[in-house]
Order: sequence, then structure tokens, then C-alpha cells
Amino acid sequence: MSQTQEIINAGGHTIRVYRQRRRSIVMKTTPVGLVLFIPTRMSLRNEQLQAFVADALEQIGGRVVPENAPEITSTDELRALVKTWAQRIGVQPTRVSVREMFRKWGSCSRKGSVSLNTALCRVPRELAEYVICHELVHLIEFNHGKGFKALMNEHMPDWRVHEQALSEWMAGGTLD
Ligand SMILES: [Zn+2]
Repeated sequence: MSQTQEIINAGGHTIRVYRQRRRSIVMKTTPVGLVLFIPTRMSLRNEQLQAFVADALEQIGGRVVPENAPEITSTDELRALVKTWAQRIGVQPTRVSVREMFRKWGSCSRKGSVSLNTALCRVPRELAEYVICHELVHLIEFNHGKGFKALMNEHMPDWRVHEQALSEWMAGGTLD
């Protein structure tokens, strides 16, 4: 993901392109938007590629995809929410990073570092807070067992509603 980002603009969408050692073309709807994986040396003008993209966009139809959703919460605000929730729960993450992730809304490590998907800037605020609360509770309970659920119930009684809403949110990611 370090090389200069190639972009295809088509059908009102901005599609990020990643080159990989692969033969086929794949397009994925991720929490951070549409992403196209193509063979290393394929030209963006390749006819097969253009037909693939047109077809894939037709399948997506009029659905809103994440990159077109308005920003609701800035990354600074996300970080401020982490501080607020960390105090509430009584934990102290060692590191907080906000970055693009294709599959996950958030994750945390056993060393106490929390990662949040930049896509959380574009979901309703309470869903972003749910992810923050979820990851911070993992600093106490690393699994999703009884202890985890008890803490979630204590700090965010309606967390199951948010969990469901998030899983239905456009291109759903998962949570660690
Ligand atoms: Zn989790």
C-alpha cells in the first residue's frame, strides 16, 4: 500500500487500484470505499479491465458506497472520543492509530494499541463510539466472553443495537 495510489474514476465512483501478483481482477466494497485488485502489469486502459469495472459498477447500482458518504466525525474527534471512553472504562491504550483498513472497523493488540478505521469518520457517531468502546473494553477482556459482554452492558447498554446497525452499514467490516 506504499506506492503512489492509482485511481479509476468511473460512474461517479473513485476506485482505488492495487496491483498484486494475480491473474484475475477483483473489486471489493470495503469500509473505506471501492478497491480494485489487478495483476501487476495490467494497464488501466486494458479493455478487459474497463469492461470488468463497468459490469461491477452496474451490480452495485445506485447503492451509496462509503467514499461518497459525508464525513460526520473528524479523526481528531475520533481520538477525543477514545480519550473520553478510555476514562469512562478506566483503561489507557498504549497507542491509538486511525488508518484505512479494508476488512476491519477496529482492532486492538494484546500490547494495548488500538487501531480505528478512517471509515468510522463516515458512519453515524454512535456507531463509531460503539467501535471505540468495544476495542477499549478489549484492553480488559481480550475475548468476546461473558466478562466482555458484562463490561459492554455496563458502559454501553444498547451496544447490541449498534453492533447490528454497524454490520448492516454499507460495506460492512468486522471487528476484532
Ligand atoms: Zn472484539
